This record gives sequence, C-alpha cells and structure tokens, in this order.
Amino acid sequence: MEIKYWNKEIEKISREELDKLQLERLQKTVGQALKTEYYGSRLPAAGINSAADIKSLADLRRLPFTTKINLREAYPFGMLAVPKSEVVRMHASSGTTGKPTTIYLTADDLARSTDITTRSVVATGAGSDDVFQNMMTYGLFTGGIVLHYGVENLGAMVIPASSGNTARQFQLMKDFNTTIIHATPSYMLYLYSRMDDFGIKPSDLNLKKAFVGAEPHSEDVRKKIEKLWGIDVYNSYGLSEMNGPGLAFECQYKDCMHVWEDAYIMEIIDPETLEPVPDGEEGELVLTILVRDAMPLIRYRTRDLTRIIPGECKCGRTHRRLARMKGRSDDMLIINGVNVFPSQIEEVVMRMKEIGTNYLIVVQKAGPLDKLIVKVELTREILTDDTRDLYALKARIAESLKASIFINPIVELHEPGALPVSEGKAKRVMDERRD
Ligand code: ADP
Ligand code: ZN
Repeated sequence: MEIKYWNKEIEKISREELDKLQLERLQKTVGQALKTEYYGSRLPAAGINSAADIKSLADLRRLPFTTKINLREAYPFGMLAVPKSEVVRMHASSGTTGKPTTIYLTADDLARSTDITTRSVVATGAGSDDVFQNMMTYGLFTGGIVLHYGVENLGAMVIPASSGNTARQFQLMKDFNTTIIHATPSYMLYLYSRMDDFGIKPSDLNLKKAFVGAEPHSEDVRKKIEKLWGIDVYNSYGLSEMNGPGLAFECQYKDCMHVWEDAYIMEIIDPETLEPVPDGEEGELVLTILVRDAMPLIRYRTRDLTRIIPGECKCGRTHRRLARMKGRSDDMLIINGVNVFPSQIEEVVMRMKEIGTNYLIVVQKAGPLDKLIVKVELTREILTDDTRDLYALKARIAESLKASIFINPIVELHEPGALPVSEGKAKRVMDERRD
C-alpha cells in the first residue's frame, strides 16, 4: 500500500522531537491560559504563576483538570486569552448533555486547525482528485465546517450538502460522482435503508470512502456500513472543545485513530481516582490543546472512554493512536444494579444479519425494578408471514443480549423504517426512568 502523508516530517517526527515540541507548546499554552479570567486565578492556586513554572512534560500533572461544567461557568468569555477583535471564528458543542459550550479561534488558530484536519483526511488515502460530500450539519457544530476547511485545503472538491434531505443527497452523489462521504454512522445506515425507495444501488455510485464520527459506534457497525455500501469506512473522533473533527482519525490501515500529538497532549485517567493509567489500559480521555492561542483548554476531561495504543503504526506515523470509543462515562446505564453500556447492546444487534439499520434502547420503571426494551428493525429480506420464525428470532436476539449484558431484555421487532431517525447524532437510548 502506498502511504500518503500531508506533512511527512511532522507525521513521522521522532518521539524525542515530539516531546520537545509538546513541552515548548505547553509552556506557551500555560502563558496564554494565565491571561484568562478563568485560569488566571486557578493556575496560581496550583502554584503555576508563569509559563516558566512548567519545566518538563511531567509538570502537566500539576495543572488542574477542566470540565464541561467549568466551561459553562466561564461562558461566554471567561477563557478567552486574546482581545475579542482577534477572534475570527467561534463554535459551540451540540449540547448532547446540556447547555452548549463555546470555543474561539484566531486566524492563526484556524490555519493550524485546518492544517491538521487536512493531515487526517490525507491519512485515509484521500487526495485532491476526490469529491467530498459533507453530510454533517453546518453551523455552530464543528463537524461540518472544520472538515470542510480541511478538505478544501487539500485541494479536493467539497460539496457542502449539510445533513438531511435524503433525495438531494442521492442526487448530488450521482450527479457529481462523490467519492467520499462525511456523515454520522447512523445516517450512513439510514441512507442505505432508503436506497430502494430512490431506485439506487451502491454500484450506481462512485463512492470509495466514508468518514464516520460524532457518535459512538461499534466495529460491527463499521463492518456493516462497509459491506452494505461496498466502501472503506474510517472512524473519526473529535469534540468541539478541541476544535472538532481532525483531532483523531484512522489512517489507511483502519486500525485505531491517530491523535496529532504535536497539537494535543492526551492522557487516560481512572475517572474515579483521577490518576493516570498505563498505556493500553482503558479510562477517560483527557486532552490539552497546544495550538489554540484564543482559548487555551488544559487537561479537559472528555468523559469519553478509550485507551491509548502504544507504539508506531504500520503507516510509519509516530503519533499514538486511540482505540474506538466505548462511549461516554455518563452513557452507562445501571439496570437493576448491573452496569450496561449501550455499545454492548449495539455490538450484539448489529452483528445479526436479520437486523437492519436501526435500533433503539428503552429503559423503564416496572414497579421496584427496571425494564430494558431493545427495539430492532428487521431487514426487508427477513420480513415474513411466518410468525413462528419471528418468535424464534426474537428469542435468539434476547439470548445473545443476555450473554453479553447479563440482563434479560424484552426484544421488540419492527418493520424497516419504523423506528425514529435523526439527521445529526442518533438518539439510541431513551431512559424513561427519570421522567
Ligand atoms: P457534545 O459534547 O454536545 O455532543 P460535540 O459535538 O463536540 O458536542 O461532540 C463531541 C462528542 O461526540 C465526543 O466527546 C464524543 O462523545 C462523541 N464522538 C465524536 N466522535 C466520535 C467517535 N468517532 N466515536 C465515538 N464518539 C464520538
Ligand atoms: Zn497509521
């Protein structure tokens, strides 16, 4: 395989050089942070009064963590480190877990963010001949515009389709020979489920790749999309607080996501003790951005659960990788005292060939106990009049789920298209116990 790089020198930088660069940039970041209202009092309280107090990368651990709650406290300008007139761009998170939080970039910040995004795109093997249809929402959400800039910077053609409008998406794909799609994995599955209605087959299209992200999804979902569409699917992870997508992307080997370590310092901590865990062990991802003057963000607790893959990748890049996200620590459901991650349920249902492209998890109160309902859509092929087959299938799904999550679920079978779909991030879990 011919490996493509956008900036080979930095992508294959030695660990030693990378450490040096991280330290320099961390010092600069701390200097910026001290100018902000938020960190201006918090860093001195931790004994950090100037950038020079950071003498080695180990000093990172002297700095306090920052959480989403802190970001909300600092809303709107408490973490701004430059005069407002220097800001050229703002973004906000999609607000999955509450009030949105905002970030700011200077023109230099934006150029750096764009450049590392281009690196991510090229790492998948994409080039300037590609036609890129961006089905992520444009607007405050970083998923749309940030990747748009990164692909434009590469010189490929961008179709800024934004999310939704299935008919138009298919039309654009056909008319402009789209080679790469950027979408949520759930939207990729949904689009596939609508192909028949529009009289389209994957072979009518010129599609080669999809970048999928913005929501947790299992390896089985990736495989399912690859098989249904006949394309390569690359996992992309990002969060608005850290400039959005581009932060971590799979390379041509599709084996975990490279994090650009000249731009971000990653740590994995035990979310209970807040102590770092060794490389390879699972925990909460904590990120420090090193390339944003307008709004430094130090040791930001993402709540996302993953692990660091140590060592070099087959592609030769030295920047370490992150394993597929298991979900957010706050995604965990406690059902009758048992811890269940929605990703465990997804893994089981997406592996079964009788199940189509959509599912929904519902948790309800049933007297003193909790009730778990897993609703799945069947494929068109399996729809049958023979109810005996359906009873057997239902029992088989329930059994497989029980083996994985140790809870007996109620399985409901639905016709294709019966369950709700969303154009942005999918809402796969309805916990009705709190209402
Ligand atoms: P919000 O936090 O409001 O959802 P963002 O739009 O910034 O705002 O979303 C970032 C979050 O989306 C991440 O912290 C993570 O939980 C999730 N996410 C993004 N990409 C992926 C991915 N590839 N796999 C799993 N989760 C992802
Ligand atoms: Zn690689």
